[in-house]
Amino acid sequence: MAKNLSLVLSITLLLLVIQPIRGHSFKSLQHLVGSHKGQTVKGLHEIKHYLSAFGYLKLNRSTGLSNDHASVKDEFDEHLELAIKSFQKNFHLNVTGRLDSSTLDVMMTPRCGVSDIDDNMSPNYALFPGKPKWGKKFLTYTINSGVTREVLDKLSFALQTGFEEWHKHTQFTFARGRPTSTSDIGIGIMHIDGPRKVLADSVAPTSGKMRFDADENWSINDKPNVDQIDMVSVATHEIGHIIGLGHSTHPDAVMYPYLNGGVIRRKLSQDDIDGVFALYGKP
Ligand SMILES: [Zn+2]
Repeated sequence: MAKNLSLVLSITLLLLVIQPIRGHSFKSLQHLVGSHKGQTVKGLHEIKHYLSAFGYLKLNRSTGLSNDHASVKDEFDEHLELAIKSFQKNFHLNVTGRLDSSTLDVMMTPRCGVSDIDDNMSPNYALFPGKPKWGKKFLTYTINSGVTREVLDKLSFALQTGFEEWHKHTQFTFARGRPTSTSDIGIGIMHIDGPRKVLADSVAPTSGKMRFDADENWSINDKPNVDQIDMVSVATHEIGHIIGLGHSTHPDAVMYPYLNGGVIRRKLSQDDIDGVFALYGKP
């Protein structure tokens, strides 16, 4: 009973985090190409919500979003410019502070729902604030939610493949089973925000909660179509969060937050391995 309650609480918390970007089609941002400081452009508040959801912009009085006045919300001020610059720096884009098309292209790419955390990170792995980690090397996991047999089979395969990849490079052993303690991993499938946009999210150690968006067109094939998202890549990424890694700015890293349709990123890069060694030491 207590376990169910904690799951419900953590899911509610995640929903609150995701709330600001729900219901928005990222495609609708296209008309903002070229926006820059000093302008007021309808829809800029969506960029503010987006940058806030992923850790680049603090929403308060001075950033305008608490003000009901629509023109203030859509004002391109210096806070927004700074946030865009750190976003651009993170993803190795030209640091212009403008909403150029390459910046908006990245923003419209499907991604993980976890915040990018540290906007000053060097171009590699990141750890969560306070560097939370597990005090044990044997983790059991359970799949909580009931969806179709087909989706559950895909998820089981994706998780198993992802756990094996991390196991190769760490001392962690992952086993599917019934929960035996409050620190076991609980994995759910639910509707997060519809197709694309946010694909999945997880909570830092030692919570162990992970969610997948039931509305995605998931694939576990070695060669997914462009309209499909590779569930194995996403599972491997989310397991990285579960054991304590944040987002990497290295595009080859499993812990890079964006994943386009048809793309596979299943193997740990040296950057991912450096990150997990930094947290747990070499095996
Ligand atoms: Zn992530």
